Amino acid sequence: MSRFISRRFDALKQYVPGEQPQDQKYVKLNTNESPYPPAPAVIDRINKAEVENLKLYSDPDCRVLREMLALQYGVGMENVFVSNGSDESLSFAFMAFSDKDTGAVFPDISYGFYKVYAQLYGIDYEMIPLKEDLTIDPADYFGRGKTVVIANPNAPTGIALKPAQIEEIIQKNPDNVVVIDEAYVDFGGESVVPLTKKYDNLLVVQTFSKSRSMAGARLGFAIGSKALIADLNKIKFSTNPYNINRLTAAAGEATLSEPSYYNDNCKKIIETRRWTAEKLSKLGFTMTDSSANFLFAKSDKMDGSDLYRLLKEKGILVRHFDAPRISPYLRITIGTMAEMETLICALTEILSNGGSV
Ligand code: PMP
Repeated sequence: MSRFISRRFDALKQYVPGEQPQDQKYVKLNTNESPYPPAPAVIDRINKAEVENLKLYSDPDCRVLREMLALQYGVGMENVFVSNGSDESLSFAFMAFSDKDTGAVFPDISYGFYKVYAQLYGIDYEMIPLKEDLTIDPADYFGRGKTVVIANPNAPTGIALKPAQIEEIIQKNPDNVVVIDEAYVDFGGESVVPLTKKYDNLLVVQTFSKSRSMAGARLGFAIGSKALIADLNKIKFSTNPYNINRLTAAAGEATLSEPSYYNDNCKKIIETRRWTAEKLSKLGFTMTDSSANFLFAKSDKMDGSDLYRLLKEKGILVRHFDAPRISPYLRITIGTMAEMETLICALTEILSNGGSV
């Protein structure tokens, strides 16, 4: 750090993203990307004309993209905000709805960025422990007087709350914003987007990074009441009005024109998850009940950090969190069937060798 950085960042611990090796030598099951490429329409759309148009700024209102999202989710265009990855929607939500007076509350085991945003913006935050079985108790979030942020399904557990449970949290926090991060909802969770029509304090955040195969393009969105979306726009137009670049907007529009391609991919991923879970159980793993495109699994024979290291030596990347309560676990992204077969073979070998490879 230089001697010039503001003292207000002294305590800030930056987010550490999963490894992104730039060679292709790994079976990459560590950052919950889709194993499938974008739909053919997306590839066709990024053509010479689109590239030539890069000389022009993008539409700061992202009208076409917002219209298409509004149509798909049955809301008005004024209820949709698009962002540079869903990380940006989350960042703006923390910035807009919390400060040192209005704190934020989220689970102790969840998406690691929540804590970073809270620290970055000087927010008084509280982390509520998950229950022993790693589930969220909705009652823990009733009437806290703070912005509530919950990933549903949660990460890295993959466990989902039901819409009725989330509705109760919203009802019990009428004077605070409830942010529901649905990054993984398309893999078996139930979205609470319909509740945004009923509650003006609900903001639902989603992404194109997982089920829509666009992690590298950085596109996310938030759906909520007109007033909440206006608040996010206030932040956006005070930081970076052109937050969505032209190529990403074009790719996003083409993506939304091919819903059946992406629905089929989700079905394949759910089926591959079921297959992988069954194989892992046979190898002595126990898992949370994941509704996401990953499994959260611990072995009865070996610690998470050893398994992570031995898999990496075999060219397979998974995610291990060296944190209390979850260090025995691995978070394993669901890849193609062939990738999961490679994983199961490697684990069979590692565990039958008692760890010596
Ligand atoms: N929310 C959760 C729970 C996530 O795991 C991620 C992915 N790291 C994100 C949000 C952010 O994803 P993106 O910015 O790629 O949309």
